[in-house]
Amino acid sequence: MAIDDMQRTPLIAGNWKMNLDLTSAGDLAKALHQNLDGLPGRDVVVIPPTPLVHAVATILDESTIKVGAQEVRAEASGAYTGDTSIEMIKSIGATYCLVGHSERREYHDETNKSCCEKIRALLNAGITPIYCVGEKLATREAGETLKFVEEQLRVGLGDIDGEEVLHVVVAYEPVWAIGTGKVATPEQAQEVHGHIRGYIGHLFDPEDGEGIRILYGGSVNAENIDGLMACPDIDGALVGGASLKADVFERIVKFEDV
Ligand code: PEP
Repeated sequence: MAIDDMQRTPLIAGNWKMNLDLTSAGDLAKALHQNLDGLPGRDVVVIPPTPLVHAVATILDESTIKVGAQEVRAEASGAYTGDTSIEMIKSIGATYCLVGHSERREYHDETNKSCCEKIRALLNAGITPIYCVGEKLATREAGETLKFVEEQLRVGLGDIDGEEVLHVVVAYEPVWAIGTGKVATPEQAQEVHGHIRGYIGHLFDPEDGEGIRILYGGSVNAENIDGLMACPDIDGALVGGASLKADVFERIVKFEDV
């Protein structure tokens, strides 16, 4: 995709996490295809569990809705039982991939350094990384959120250059807001998003900071999406639980553009 086509079109991504099966994922994909295909002014991505990516991508093949994977390994192939390579997800229809989701950092020892390797390898393969950053509650309460997120960005984006950074999507997901029902206020989210934009401008080029898409994630739902999307530096949402119901996800995608 040309960089111009990518620039800050609102992007709503649904992370299905470890939910659904072949039948229910197919039903959800069909409903989204019917109601969101071709929607102007929005980029929509669904991110099923890896075993369901192929089936979902097949259903959405003729639609404008893109499919992502939740996890990959940076190595091309080898003795990594249970892992999935980038070529594998690419060959079954994924064009996006989450990197550094807090649940991977928590349960699978994902580090900023391993995120960096994955982002490099994904960009080499032409897959768009959605790089997740965000602080735990203790970090926020210690007043260290901005410094913490800066470090995640500095290391995670440490092996790419200014031209490439616009092919990355950043998702700010405060860990204390994920799956908890405690959404960040628009003011809290905007403060961090504005800071991320400025910091990416500092790491690369101010134009890159202006051009990169930064999603908010953490208990996004049909009630709070409009307020979040009204913030100048929020370019979309990474939605977990609320992406599993077609009508709720559709309402989120069709947020009120105020
Ligand atoms: C997520 O999985 O990235 C997420 C933000 O989950 P939820 O919307 O359920 O908080």
